[in-house]
Amino acid sequence: QAESGVSHVATYTESMNPYSERRLTLMTELRRAIREDSLALYFQPQVRLSSGEVCGFEVLLRWNHPEHGFIPPDEFIPMAEQTGLIQPLTQWVLDRALLFGAAMDGAGYPVRMAVNISARNLEEPAFAELVQELLERHGLPTGRLILEVTETATMVNPVNALQALRGLYDAGIRLAIDDFGTGYSSLSYIRKLPVHEIKIDRSFVREMDANREDATIVRTTINMCHDLGFEVVAEGVESDDTSQLLRNMQCDIMQGYHLSRPMPEAHVAGWLSTWYYT
Ligand code: C2E
Ligand code: CA
Ligand code: CA
Ligand code: CA
Repeated sequence: QAESGVSHVATYTESMNPYSERRLTLMTELRRAIREDSLALYFQPQVRLSSGEVCGFEVLLRWNHPEHGFIPPDEFIPMAEQTGLIQPLTQWVLDRALLFGAAMDGAGYPVRMAVNISARNLEEPAFAELVQELLERHGLPTGRLILEVTETATMVNPVNALQALRGLYDAGIRLAIDDFGTGYSSLSYIRKLPVHEIKIDRSFVREMDANREDATIVRTTINMCHDLGFEVVAEGVESDDTSQLLRNMQCDIMQGYHLSRPMPEAHVAGWLSTWYYT
């Protein structure tokens, strides 16, 4: 059930000259991969700490390249953003994620799908309509989807980002700020963000069971976010101690290897059948 082949093709990052031939080839191949459906989505469960129920899944893109093997999203997403491919890519991810969401619905698990979007998607004028159209096509209410935008992405062009988030928010689409704490946004900016949830970055969560400073940061962030009216998700939960700490801190939702690594759709039913929480 663990992800296999996580030994990355490190050589890719070395040749990330924007115009390198290899990079252009890779983009052509990515375009084809979208068209031919040879990308895959993995799903990582999110659990509500107060009840232990599985409330959703974060959707994570995987590209298993025929020659180069597994290419991690951190490597090809930035390229897709620079080349404009991110638009069809996000559309594909949303469509597939909602297809899975509808299947889960049918199986009696009305859970939400958390989909990552990039700053470039926020710039698309018809993005909110696209999202609503896809939800309708899959027969899912808006609450069944949550879009994750990184704190950094909202800082590229803060005025536009705020406006775009507001448009999505007003359309009833749930929003989360991802990797919270790693950017440089000010508290006054955060206060204005039209979003429902804050995801505390895993760099603060991962070792909070052993590191008092990290635990302090997480506790303070949870309290502040609650006071501002946001729900709080902790990502990168790797131990039972951390999950207990988070529950005591009244964190709302957790996600991480302690529960499960991201898994292919075919493994989800099996994982759910063995899931229990004490
Ligand atoms: P992210 O949104 O912060 O996603 C969480 C990452 O943390 C995932 O890496 C996940 O596998 C990993 N992770 C989950 N639990 C744990 C844990 O307990 N410990 C540790 N150490 N790691 C954990 P992944 O799948 O490699 O994704 C990397 C990044 O790529 C994502 O970071 C996201 O920014 C981006 N990404 C992935 N899929 C998509 C997508 O469909 N669209 C866009 N725009 N970006 C995506
Ligand atoms: Ca995310
Ligand atoms: Ca994150
Ligand atoms: Ca990240």
